[in-house]
Amino acid sequence: MSDTGLVAAFTGVRKPFALLEFPVPEAEPGAVVVRLTMANVCGSDLHIWRGTYDVSRGHSEPFCLSIGHEMTGVVHELGEGVASDSAGDQLSVGDRVVFQYFVGCGECRSCRRETTPRCPEGLKYRFPPDQYPHFTAAYGQYYYLRPGQAVFKVPDNVPDELAGPANCALAQVIDGLERGNAGPGDRLVIQGAGGLGLNAVAVARERGVSQVIVIDGVESRLELALAFGADQVIDLNEFPTTGDRVRRVLELTEGDGADLVMELVGKAEAVPEAIGMLAHGGTLLEIGNINQGQTVTLDPSQLVHGGKTILGMMWYRPQSLQAALQMLSESATRYPFDRVLSHSYPLTEVDQAFADQDTGAVQRAALLPWG
Ligand SMILES: [Zn+2]
Ligand SMILES: [Zn+2]
Repeated sequence: MSDTGLVAAFTGVRKPFALLEFPVPEAEPGAVVVRLTMANVCGSDLHIWRGTYDVSRGHSEPFCLSIGHEMTGVVHELGEGVASDSAGDQLSVGDRVVFQYFVGCGECRSCRRETTPRCPEGLKYRFPPDQYPHFTAAYGQYYYLRPGQAVFKVPDNVPDELAGPANCALAQVIDGLERGNAGPGDRLVIQGAGGLGLNAVAVARERGVSQVIVIDGVESRLELALAFGADQVIDLNEFPTTGDRVRRVLELTEGDGADLVMELVGKAEAVPEAIGMLAHGGTLLEIGNINQGQTVTLDPSQLVHGGKTILGMMWYRPQSLQAALQMLSESATRYPFDRVLSHSYPLTEVDQAFADQDTGAVQRAALLPWG
């Protein structure tokens, strides 16, 4: 058993990661130490690396920060009092697990009202790697799961390649479509066919959504969206302006527009475009715009006259992660989930993984902490 482990720390915008070694912490009562087996590069990690999503929290460069949040691993050590996962199933050393990458502070008004996904302090325990317990994000060989952080055993028939994206992409879109009440009769537009968008197509199909339209500008992603079960795709190259795309959505929806639009692009200008695509009474599920400081002009009377709603959300409820695992176990074979993760790299090649995904050539990179 190794007593130290590596962390790949973020040191600044488009700068090389620092590979640092730290002692593996002991699990305090209620905590779990996880030995990571896979960590992925999510769109939001790429936003951090590009400098469009600022996580420095007042630190100025050069800094050394823990990032990465899509991951899976095996139980390395159980703290005193931990005998089961968040579903009540027995948990033992060696079990494969996925877990929420955030944890409610337990003290704020959102946490007290049990709406932890709205806790503003959900990443309070993600410390810089030089601070104990060192392993508080995905790009490392271990992860220290705090007491109260939701954790679930991974079903045997769900491989790491599928389990890894469950704790961000899949759980997030399950939560989003649940909150948007997506179901039969609904027409859904998905802006962006990255990891979240592709997962959203599968979830929409499982929920019986009647029509799924996906918008992106990368041909391979659009092909994958169709393979996941999208009914139609809109290629940004073919429909280059907002007006073109709104008209195309209206055309594809008998002039009515979409009952739901999911914004998974992370560009401010996608928001007024989405509002323009919504049918009367429709809802925009706003998930992608984590980048602070982008602004956009919109005409709010469209919301009033159209009875349209914008639901902003970050993070998800524990039951959505549990539902993600159940869906992967029961219906994964119906969707090409295995094609979402297109390339894998050892953790030591994290710089290459980011550079490749940045160009769009790599759909989603997986990092192998021990590979
Ligand atoms: Zn993510
Ligand atoms: Zn809180």
